[in-house]
Amino acid sequence: QAKGKGKNTFERFHPDLNQRAQKRMTLETNLRKALDRGELTLHYQPQVSLRDGRLVGLEALLRWRHPELGLVSPAEFIPVAEESGLIVPIGRWVVHTACRQVAAWRDAGLGDVHVCVNLSPRQARDPHMLHDTVMALREAGMRPQQLELEITETVLMENVHANVELLHRLQREGIRLSIDDFGTGYSSMAYLKRFPIDQVKIDRTFVRDIPGDGDDEAITTAIIAMAHSLGLTVVAEGVETEAQLRFLREAGCDTMQGYYFAEPRPADAIAVLLRERLAERE
Ligand code: C2E
Ligand code: MG
Ligand code: MG
Ligand code: MG
Repeated sequence: QAKGKGKNTFERFHPDLNQRAQKRMTLETNLRKALDRGELTLHYQPQVSLRDGRLVGLEALLRWRHPELGLVSPAEFIPVAEESGLIVPIGRWVVHTACRQVAAWRDAGLGDVHVCVNLSPRQARDPHMLHDTVMALREAGMRPQQLELEITETVLMENVHANVELLHRLQREGIRLSIDDFGTGYSSMAYLKRFPIDQVKIDRTFVRDIPGDGDDEAITTAIIAMAHSLGLTVVAEGVETEAQLRFLREAGCDTMQGYYFAEPRPADAIAVLLRERLAERE
């Protein structure tokens, strides 16, 4: 009786819980089929040098278009993929697809491109990830230095010992490494020094209110100074305005990524940018 009553009370006060669980199930069932059905694609967002405005790299970002659900945001389906373990085959697909795309651009005479791929916690723990990644590079005939893996600060700090080990193994292969969403976690300088990373990406939440917000200005400037003193380069995420760009350039930030220059775009739209880049070089 008490138990039954408790359940009723619970459902009365959380009517949306069931609905949310249902939605998650629907997403998971559909995501399971998405790879085979070719519903996943990669978009690429340019990273440009703050020194001369040249395109220096691309971040591969997953997109899922389901025939009925429509375009599902990564913020919605990546957590489902992570919890269900589907991120492992999906992540493998992302690395292979990004590498194949770099090879296709090169073969089309568009030059050698640097590509960044996001690595999830589950993938970082996958014992086959390193080998899969090296195979993808080999198949594409890419230099390992052309691939950069992004791992978030939070994930990095969750399991410092194992991650130091993993990152060293990746580094020995020549793969570049960066810390994503930097500033949102709790890493100390002492830890940062232990990871063989090449680059930090300042999280969008700090970039959003600069210039203007004194705290965010101070944090951004401090991250740039700290990273440079450790020999790392810095990318600012989510740059949307000219004012942000100016502030970051003055603070000595190396690279930026954001709607101000370009939103993530499909591969054929990126080819247009790569062609322009080649033309500028001449
Ligand atoms: P992230 O790696 O931090 O990627 C940056 C996100 O910021 C992307 O969102 C990008 O579209 C967005 N963004 C870029 N410039 C701007 C800007 O100027 N303004 C604003 N408001 N947003 C901007 P997206 O594509 O929705 O991806 C969200 C997150 O999903 C990513 O955050 C990443 O954590 C995850 N994700 C995306 N693709 C993959 C993937 O292939 N594998 C894994 N494991 N995670 C992925
Ligand atoms: Mg990223
Ligand atoms: Mg990020
Ligand atoms: Mg972010």
